[in-house]
Amino acid sequence: MAYDTQPEASHFVDGAYLEDTNGAAMDVIYPATGARIAVVHEATPAVIERALTSARRAQAEWAAMMGVERGRILRRAADIMRERNRDLSVLETHDTGKPLSETLYVDATSGADALEYFGGLAGSLTGEHVPLGADWGYTVREALGVCVGIGAWNYPTQIACWKGAPALACGNAMIFKPSETTPLCALKVAEILHEAGLPAGLYNVIQGAGDVGRALVADGRVDKVSLTGSVPTGRKVYAAAAEGMKHVTMELGGKSPLVIFDDADLENAVSGAINGNFYSTGQVCSNGTRVFVQDGIREAFLERLAERVQGAVMGDPLDEATTLGPMVSQRQREIVMGYIAKGRAEGARLVCGGAAPERAGFFVEPTVFADVTDDMTIAREEIFGPVMAVLGFADEAEVIARANDTPYGLSAGVFTRDLARAHRVIGQLQAGSCFINSYNDAPVELPFGGSKASGVGRENAKAAIEHYSQMKSVYVRMGDVEAPF
Ligand code: NAD
Repeated sequence: MAYDTQPEASHFVDGAYLEDTNGAAMDVIYPATGARIAVVHEATPAVIERALTSARRAQAEWAAMMGVERGRILRRAADIMRERNRDLSVLETHDTGKPLSETLYVDATSGADALEYFGGLAGSLTGEHVPLGADWGYTVREALGVCVGIGAWNYPTQIACWKGAPALACGNAMIFKPSETTPLCALKVAEILHEAGLPAGLYNVIQGAGDVGRALVADGRVDKVSLTGSVPTGRKVYAAAAEGMKHVTMELGGKSPLVIFDDADLENAVSGAINGNFYSTGQVCSNGTRVFVQDGIREAFLERLAERVQGAVMGDPLDEATTLGPMVSQRQREIVMGYIAKGRAEGARLVCGGAAPERAGFFVEPTVFADVTDDMTIAREEIFGPVMAVLGFADEAEVIARANDTPYGLSAGVFTRDLARAHRVIGQLQAGSCFINSYNDAPVELPFGGSKASGVGRENAKAAIEHYSQMKSVYVRMGDVEAPF
């Protein structure tokens, strides 16, 4: 492999790196140059079998351990991740193309937050005592068994931890399949967890595309599936999981509204729109890509936004002065350029950007369209790139109705100085993860996830525990048993 912080082999199974070159080779491309930086091999049926067998074997013993003991291992892993943040961030940048100015602050660090948070909760996962007159009952919180995590390519370290940490805290084993576009980072998460003391088999990482994901979801030894991906993939995975009556968490796409009222602090609103559209080059599921700006402030907003966007530094992601990296792949750049062409063709006004610069790598300029109407393709479909659609609105009731007129429901944001209005509007927006005078914060302490087509279940916070464990209830009779005959 190209440099020394890279993982040693394609898979991490049963406590060790594992290679099987019989699996199809998958090139790992550095998005900033287009150069191949590594090759991994797709998991063969033999690798999948080893992952499942070792997970099944290890899980029961892990679930029987004291919660605090499990938690200690997760918290130790969090410390190691923080110590190695720079190396892990460099790897994340190579995997995704996201600039180091981001990865140093939000990838391994948020992964470590999840390990620390769920490590802390592991000792407190209890049931309750229920008085029933002379009798009583109690509930026991039990692990589900073997969980499968399937990742998208935008946050490979974070997704591996957001799924792995609560799963392990609750006493499950996890088999994680990263996106085929970004296969490297999750291997480092597995390596660190085992270095921290995780017994072999409890966190396996195996590579592959949809076929490997499909094989895992269909296997009868799997009890739960957590997917981060697009809505079309979500439908397929949810249906396949239903066949086996498996638990699911679906973290899917969005087309979220960001509503900016006339009385908003202009500079903060522009910052929110930038964070909600251009961070990670727009490859964030919760992005506020439909920016509704009230009539009185709209031209001032667009003018200031265009000025601020000129300040984006597009370039070498490993240079910490860079603030905008490339798209993750050539294909994703083509998809995004296709949407930009549609925006122009359907009559939106291009305020800035719109081009793919002539340079190596998969770069796209930060792009803002104004005069966007609700029916335009760029206002309806998830683009997953640095393309902001600005729409006008006159009043509160109108903007709420239009903001909700979408099959998605991942996120929503409101900028206003009127806090009563902020809460009133957020209360009516159909979305799982919302923001007032901010955008795209995702601390581990708050549940994260979508409503409507954007998903099922929640990640992070205590809410995630509900999705990685199940309740057993026990009725205890203290007296004799009456029967009809
Ligand atoms: P994708 O849906 O193409 O792939 C997601 C994962 O599913 C990949 O690992 C892929 O190999 C796997 N997969 C594909 N078909 C499968 C099948 N039939 N069975 C099992 N696994 C299968 O998504 P992507 O292009 O990698 O990521 C972008 C999408 O993810 C966007 O829609 C984005 O909004 C969404 N996303 C959502 C969140 C969230 O938390 N809500 C976070 C990041 C990304």
